[in-house]
Amino acid sequence: MNCLICKGNLEHKLTTFMTDLDGCIVIIKNVPSLVCSQCGETYYDDDTMEQLEKISNSLRKVVTEVAIVDYPGRVA
Ligand SMILES: [Zn+2]
Repeated sequence: MNCLICKGNLEHKLTTFMTDLDGCIVIIKNVPSLVCSQCGETYYDDDTMEQLEKISNSLRKVVTEVAIVDYPGRVA
């Protein structure tokens, strides 16, 4: 697979995923991802995407402002 934007090579890297859920910021660290070596665009595979969504949704219920977790993310 190559970058959809610039066709550059994708490298396996751990990145930090961040999302804003109605004012609640969720930060998930050490997410396995593919990063374009040319433009820096980050891609996740389907499983990772699903996992990120699950983590975000479960955090949303318990967190009021900011949540920082490590992938695969456990809500304490
Ligand atoms: Zn690229």
